[in-house]
Amino acid sequence: MNTQQLSDFLKKAILKNRMCHAIIIHGGSYEKRKNAAIDAARMLECKTSPEICGECYSCKTIPCSNFPDVHLVKPEKRNLSIDEVRTIKEQMHIKPYIGKHRIFIIETDWMQQPAANSLLKIMEEPPTYGILIVLVPNNKNFLPTIVSRALNLRLNPELEISPGDEVILEQVTDLVEKASRKNWIDFFQTAGEISKSSPREEIENIFNALVLIERQSLLKSAGINQSGLHKKYYSDKINDYRVLASVLDKRQYLRFNVNTRIFLETIAILISLPKWRNWQTR
Ligand SMILES: [Zn+2]
Repeated sequence: MNTQQLSDFLKKAILKNRMCHAIIIHGGSYEKRKNAAIDAARMLECKTSPEICGECYSCKTIPCSNFPDVHLVKPEKRNLSIDEVRTIKEQMHIKPYIGKHRIFIIETDWMQQPAANSLLKIMEEPPTYGILIVLVPNNKNFLPTIVSRALNLRLNPELEISPGDEVILEQVTDLVEKASRKNWIDFFQTAGEISKSSPREEIENIFNALVLIERQSLLKSAGINQSGLHKKYYSDKINDYRVLASVLDKRQYLRFNVNTRIFLETIAILISLPKWRNWQTR
């Protein structure tokens, strides 16, 4: 759904008094997910609820995190820790000071099993005024038990590259180029450097970004214009959508503790293959 549809959906839920205690907003971009969550909080707290008047105290203070009953949780490296979940649990049971709800907006891409189990407990027994809004690029990153406990709302996919990811994305496209030029000494050196400096979660995010770049290039070649096209990486370095899609299937290996360096090397060689084949048949 797009941002407007998501907001209409939540408005209806609030009107019918059917707002869920746990919502997962996935897809979209970091910015869109966050804006959707902030609007949801405003819809819940505005004096004209479920409308957003834009003028009242809650409407004005929620977006800048100054409303005491709406908390924004931003874990380090977007990985929610068990300590953060414990803090949420403690604060969740404090009655709202001035609002009608106590709302937690959690921006996380990952969580380990202990954090997930602890979060699940909050989801199972929330206080009547408690609301969790979890923002994640892909809800498949979470345990099925977490996903099934929440109302899942998916925003249309969008290319999202955080400033931290840009550096690795540049390195990965560089790696693919080195493979396609069969510049093997540089290639293995670069693969080693990337895998040393980037956690596997970040590498997985990069491959998600690569697929979206390819998708946009495919849409463009079909004459469908999309806003927000990432021109900087819109290049011929990675040039076959189907190969990329099959490569993406392999990203699951990252979850099974495959050495990230070997993963990167294999993927980069695979992506560079179509170019190599074209060159061979010329
Ligand atoms: Zn308002």
